[in-house]
Formats: sequence, C-alpha cells, structure tokens
Amino acid sequence: MLSLSDIFVAAFILICVVLFQWEVVQKTLNGSQFYAYSVCNVGEPEQDNWLRTTFIQRRPSASRIFVELQFIVRDCNSFDASVPCKETFNLFTSESDADVGTTFRKGQFKKVVTIAPDEITSKNGMRINTETKVVDNLSRKGFYLAFQDIGACVALLSVKVYYKACTATVESLARFPETVAGSENQALREVKGECVENAQSEEVPRIYCTADGEWVVQVGHCQCKPGYEKVGDTCQECQPGFFKAASSDGKCEPCPANTQGLEAGAAFCPCMDGFYQAPTDPITGPCSGLPTAPRDLVATTTQLSAGKLLLSWSPPDDTGGRSDITYSVECQSCEGGACRPCGEKIRYEPASAGLTLTRVTVSELDAHLNYTFIVEAHSGVSMFAGQASARAHKPPSTNPPKITSMTVIEKSVTSLSLSWDVSPRPRLHAPPIRYELTYRKKDDNLDVTTYTVLILEKSSVQISELAPGTAYLFRVQALSSDGSPGGSSIEEQYETLHESTSAYFCHIHLKRNSHSRQGAEDNYFSSPEQLKPLKTYVDPHTYEDPNVAVLKFATEIHPSHITKQKVIGAGEFGEVYRGILKVPGRKDVAVAIKTLKPGYTEKQRQDFLSEASIMGQFTHQNIIRLEGVVTKFKHAMIVTEYMENGALDRYLKDHDGEFSSFQLVGMLRGIAAGMKYLSDMSYVHRDLAARNILVNNNLECKVSDFGLSRVLEDDPEGTYTTSGGKIPIRWTAPEAIAYRKFTSASDVWSFGIVMWEVMAFGERPYWDMSNHEVMKAINEAFRLPAPMDCPSAVYQLMLQCWLQDRSKRPRFGDIVSLLDKLLRSPDSLKTIADFDPRVSIRLPSTSGSDGSPFRSVSEWLESIKMSQYSENFTCAGIINMDQVLQMKNEDIKNIGVRLPGHLKRIAYSILGLKDQTSTLSVFAV
Ligand code: AMP
Repeated sequence: MLSLSDIFVAAFILICVVLFQWEVVQKTLNGSQFYAYSVCNVGEPEQDNWLRTTFIQRRPSASRIFVELQFIVRDCNSFDASVPCKETFNLFTSESDADVGTTFRKGQFKKVVTIAPDEITSKNGMRINTETKVVDNLSRKGFYLAFQDIGACVALLSVKVYYKACTATVESLARFPETVAGSENQALREVKGECVENAQSEEVPRIYCTADGEWVVQVGHCQCKPGYEKVGDTCQECQPGFFKAASSDGKCEPCPANTQGLEAGAAFCPCMDGFYQAPTDPITGPCSGLPTAPRDLVATTTQLSAGKLLLSWSPPDDTGGRSDITYSVECQSCEGGACRPCGEKIRYEPASAGLTLTRVTVSELDAHLNYTFIVEAHSGVSMFAGQASARAHKPPSTNPPKITSMTVIEKSVTSLSLSWDVSPRPRLHAPPIRYELTYRKKDDNLDVTTYTVLILEKSSVQISELAPGTAYLFRVQALSSDGSPGGSSIEEQYETLHESTSAYFCHIHLKRNSHSRQGAEDNYFSSPEQLKPLKTYVDPHTYEDPNVAVLKFATEIHPSHITKQKVIGAGEFGEVYRGILKVPGRKDVAVAIKTLKPGYTEKQRQDFLSEASIMGQFTHQNIIRLEGVVTKFKHAMIVTEYMENGALDRYLKDHDGEFSSFQLVGMLRGIAAGMKYLSDMSYVHRDLAARNILVNNNLECKVSDFGLSRVLEDDPEGTYTTSGGKIPIRWTAPEAIAYRKFTSASDVWSFGIVMWEVMAFGERPYWDMSNHEVMKAINEAFRLPAPMDCPSAVYQLMLQCWLQDRSKRPRFGDIVSLLDKLLRSPDSLKTIADFDPRVSIRLPSTSGSDGSPFRSVSEWLESIKMSQYSENFTCAGIINMDQVLQMKNEDIKNIGVRLPGHLKRIAYSILGLKDQTSTLSVFAV
C-alpha cells in the first residue's frame, strides 16, 4: 500500500583483516584499476583458505542482513584438466558480542551458503558476478563474515552489507518512525504512529512494516482538528475569513453570510453585531438579522356588525435573510388614552401567534369599543431582540464534547426514545454533561418555528405525545459548563410509527446473552448509565416463550398474501421458494419463502422461527431483510427479500474470471459493512462464509443465515470437534476452534476467508486439504497464499484478519474504511500480490487426480474448470498435452480465450505443468 523502495543502510566496503592464502591484488577492468582479495591455488590439493572481515556492529533491531558480493571466478577449463580445480567458494558467519581482533577460530564460523558464479571468467574476458545472500536471525552485538576458498581461482571485488528498513514516513496525517524490517518468521512488524500536530484520531494509528521494507495496511485515521485543514502532510490553520467546525478530512470553508472570521484557526465564525443564529440553525450556517415591521396593516370592518374584523398586512421589507417569518397579533382596547390588553374573550382565526399567512380574522369584538391591533413579525432569531449579540456564538468556556451519532432505540405510535454518543466520552465521576435537544415536526411549514427545546443531563431521552406516523427533526448539542451551546451538533430525522404498524417495530434492551459478543475487550463504556450500546441484539432465547420473541421482532403475514412460484433451494427445515408477497395497499415484492416441512416437532418449529427473531432485529442494506413470518397457521414460513443471484460462492464459481478486482472489492465492502453493523449490535455470526452471503441483481451482497442452530445443524461444512460442537473448520478462527471463543474478532478471521473466496472466484479455501491438515497448518503459522490476480493491499488485509492474536486483527470498522479507501483510489488495486501457480492451482493443473500426468487436453481443462474451451483447443488442432505445453499467452488468446481471468488461469496452469515441483509453498506470518 505505501511503497518505499528498499533502503540501503550501513552499506560499506569491508576491510578484511584476516587472510590465509588470500592476497590483495590490483586488477584492471574497462581501463580503471581497483583492488580485490584474490586466491588462486588451482592445482594444489586440499585447499582451505580463509578471508575474514573486521567486526561488524549490528543495529539491535536488525536481525536480518543482506550481503551483496561482487566477485570473479576463473573457468577451470582454462587450466590443465588433470589438476584439481573448483569454481565455488563458501560464505560463513560468526556472531559475537565483542571484537576479537585478529584471533580467528574456524570452528566458531557457521556456513551460510556456497557461492557459485553465474558467469565464469575465461580467456575471452573478465565476468563480474553480483550475488546477494541473506543472513537471518542474528541476535548478538555484531558478527563477522568469512569467505572460504577450497581450491578455486577467485577474486572478491566488493562486499556490501545492509539491512532493510521502512523509512520514517507520514501517511494520512499519521507519523511513523523508521522501522527495521523483520526477519522471515516475523514478516510484518506492527508500528504505532502518532497524528501530526493539530490532527487527531479516535484510535492510535497503526501500520505494518514488511520484511521487504515496505509500509502496508494502515489502520486508524488521523484528521485535522476543528479550525485546521490538511495541506500536504500537515494540518494548517484556517485562514482568517475561513472556518472548519469538525475534525474531518474537509477543507476550511469561507465564513457564511453575516459572520466574521477575524482570526486564523477558527472552528466557527461568530455572528457580526446585530446578527444572530436560531438554536436550530446549523452552527456552520449564516447568521441573520431581525425582521423589520410588517407593512400596510389594514383592518377590513365590513362584518363589524357580527363582531368580526379581518386584519391583513404585507411582509416586512427586510426579513433579515430568513424564511421562518411568523406573525403575532396583540389586541389592546383603548379608552381615554389608556390601553389594556383585550382579554381572553377575543377569538383569532387561525391563531393569534405563529401565523404564517399575512392575515387573521378577529371575532367576538364589542361594537362600541376602540381596539388597537399590533402585528409583529418574528423569526428564529427574534428571541435575541434587545439582547444584542450576547448569545450569538459566544466562544464556549469549556470545550463541550462533540455529538458523534444519534440513534432511535425505541419507537411507538406517539413516542420516540433517542440516544446519542459523544466524543471524547465522559470520564467516570466527571460532572454530567448537559445537552440541548431541539425538535420539531419535519413537515411544518418552514415559516413556522414551533420547536421544543429540552435541556437534559443524560445522553438519552424518551419523547412522548408525538403525532402518529409523523417525521420529526431532532438536533442535539452538548452545552459547555456555563450553559452555552458549544460543541458541534448533530441533526437527524425520525418518524413515529403509523397506527397500523406499531406491532412490529420495537427494540428492547435485555441483559446480554451467551450468543452476543462480550467483554471489556470489545466494548468500552465509560459510564454504564450514559453510554449503553446504541442498539443491542437480543437473543430470542432470553424469552421464556420463543413465540413471543418472534412476534416482537417480526410482522405476521397472512398466508393468502404469499404466492409460491418455484423451489430455489433446500434449507435444513424445508424447501426454499421464490414467490411474491402481495400486501393490500403495498407494491408486490419478490420474496424468498422458507418453509417448515411437515412432521416437525415443537422444538424444530421454534428453532426454525428463531432465524426470523434474529433477522427481524436488523435493518441494514447489507443484511438480508425480513419481510415477515407466518406463525399463526399450520405451515410456518419465513419471508425475506429475494436475492436474484443466490449464494455468493456458487455465483462466483459460475462467473469465474468475469469481474474486475474493483467489482470484487466492492462486494467485499458490502459484506464488511453488514458485518460492522452486526458487530456494533454485539451480534456474533459464527458462520460467515461465501455460501451464507446472498447476491442480488445489482451485485449487492447481503449477510444471511442467522438461525440459532445453524452452525450445529444446517451447515454442510460443520464438522464435529472434540468438544462436541459443530464448527466449519476452514472458516473459523483458531481460538474459536480451540476453546469456543467466538467474538467479532473471530468473525473477522472468517471475513478474511470470505475475502479469499471472493478474490479466488469461489475456490474452496485450502483446496483438498483435510480439516486436520488445515488446523495443523494454521497452528504452524501457515496461511492461504494470495489468489491469482489479487491486489497486494487486499491480500495484506486478509493476512491481518488471520493474525493469531485476535486483539491485533482489524475491526470491521477498520476493514470498511480500508476497503473504501481502496475503492476511492482504484490505482491502489493495481499492485498485484505475488502469485505462485504451483500453490494456487496446485494438484489439478500439474497432474491428474491420482497424481499421474494428464492423459488428455479435456481432462486437464476439466481439472482447471475451463472445460468450456475444449472445442477451441480441438479446433485449433491442439489435441495433446505436449502441444499444450508449447503454448504461449498469444496462442491462448488466438484460439478464442478472451476473458482476462480465464486467460490467466490457463496460462498459469501451463506454467505449473512445466514446473512439476508442486510443493505447497506457504505463507508464514
Ligand atoms: P438457507 O437455508 O438460508 O441456507 O437457504 C438455502 C438456499 O436457498 C440458499 O443457499 C440459496 O440458494 C437459497 N436462498 C435462501 N434465501 C434466499 C433469498 N433470500 N434469495 C434467494 N435465494 C435464497
């Protein structure tokens, strides 16, 4: 992801101090002279000539060093054939905590490798060889290198010793220090970084340094604080006249109308004198002035005999820039120069205040009295009249926290329960934060400002006496210690239930249960009172009567509204049908209908319906949507949205090679978003696999399969473990297999396997290895290799999901952000991970199923699932495997294989066939 070229540090020419038989000679090459260490005792038997370097101090973290040699070896053919002559020499190393000077003990040296030239120097000219060797797992303060000659004619021209490191860098506003790359068995080093000045992040930014000195997979996101914007790798103050209200990636924006931005680094622009903001105005919006008086007030007295009067007027000349102008009418009766309020007897139609139209009818007037009517124009900022700018955008005395999200936790026909989250979270025992909650009906004419303001000391509230089926706008803002609104606010719209639908939309909090994600590692709540998870999954088992649970979370559908059309699958409890749901007053919808086969027990019926009780609690674009259930009739059914393309594994197998990496990553993004939602609700899926993801016509992927018994009974991949439970081994994290520790972190492991399945177009993870072999390989730190054509960043993310230490695995939130980032810059998908055809199309492409070579072209094509091209090969006259082996990429294209994925699959398989050494090269982390 973050590519840095290899860093050569500590590169130098060695001074070799201990010589036995080696000597310093002067050589001439291309006209220039240089010195070399040379030995040439060809013809003499039993040679053992040593050359040793000075002591090389090691940087403590550099346990893996590279030795680059330049050398010349003379061709033995240029000597008399009868004399002993060698063409190789050996590299040795010895570790030490101190410099031992010229003392040399052969026995202390360990052989690293035999060095053989690629090109031999003959009479025709000198050939310089360059070779780089790795010395790994160094642990002491320093080391020596030594070169042993055993009878060759060698000259050593230069020795360069270096290690690789990821250079200090700033990535996405996070600064990471220089980090020495790890050794082979510790291929990724996690490095913690810190946000640059004036940037902040909710979690400590992390990144990984690969063994090759490259930074990969950044986790955590630093953003410039309010008042600062990103310029290159820094956060710079907003210029005077500009502001930025939140921690974000955005730019500073010009101060809105009627505000002033006198200072640099403004988080908001205060109102100019005489201009104000209403409590419901966004802090980032303009300020407005007070409206002037209404004009041309006229009283029409034609119906005075009936005690009625029509008052009408024109809007003010200047509304102060606002559209929420309302009018109020005050009546005074005046006698002898003294005026008094008219009293309650007078009637106003439609009202005496909050008028949006410019007229009002006044009735119940006494014919003999003199009346004076005062019509006032008001707006959202009228409350500031006479208060000058005292309340407008006064800087807060303490920094109130920011509201980060608001959710509705319970709805009824006339009430809404809301809860919101703040950042930073309040510390335990800190004085309570006060919040200002403002709400109003959404559809209220904008000219009317009927809003309610509540001051609260809790981050949740239940608001009752609302109108049924009505949308309301809610705005919440934390107050600073002196009671002034300060922190940024959040505005959301929620609707009360319609009277007819109240039965099924209800989320309640019960105690957490064994099926949910647990423990401090997963959720940190600083104040249990205030910061409950916004919405938590409720295990239907916590209900004494499961039938009550299902009706709590699912809508009952009348069977006459369901039409079954065709069987599309077989579930564990009965057939799955495609069909139509026709609810009167609603558009017909295509649905999937799961049925319960006859002869079921009550327990089976409850297990069957438990899936609906769970699914009904979720509302997310990437979670399969429950339409409803049939429970009150003999044939119980579960009705869900219909996913035209069925299960993801099958779908990808059927469309092998037909999607770009961008499209595949897009699918993964959807699945990750669904899983983030589930993990936020503390729901652990336990059986996340491509077979349990459904795909619709728009290629949207949705997580499905929520039955309580599904892992135990339903999944054909489920395998009994020694502890008696059934677990889909290939998809399950080691800690969940070993001691049933199922958490969202184990779901992340499974997500990594789903990533692999998707990028490999539905290939079976670990191919034909047995479950036992898979568990053994995982315990020995082996991991699946990159699928063909898989972007490097995507493969790196898979490896992160498969970290042994579950606390180090990314969270679903991190995964969604990273995938989003990749999708936003598709160029990041162009670097492809190393792919080894011998591993990835292992047995099938190198030999038949019994290990013997393929007997025919069609047998080979079948093994790589490319049988559809059999005819293309035959027509092109390629009828035996020898001809296949001669094919070049161009030839494959010419016989009519067009899809890039298929081209590669065939080409890689031919490559694999040429190299029969099909050992399983594995990826160790
Ligand atoms: P399940 O019992 O959920 O594993 O469903 C069995 C099979 O029915 C799945 O593998 C799908 O092929 C099909 N199926 C289930 N639900 C749906 C749906 N909502 N849309 C389309 N096909 C579905």
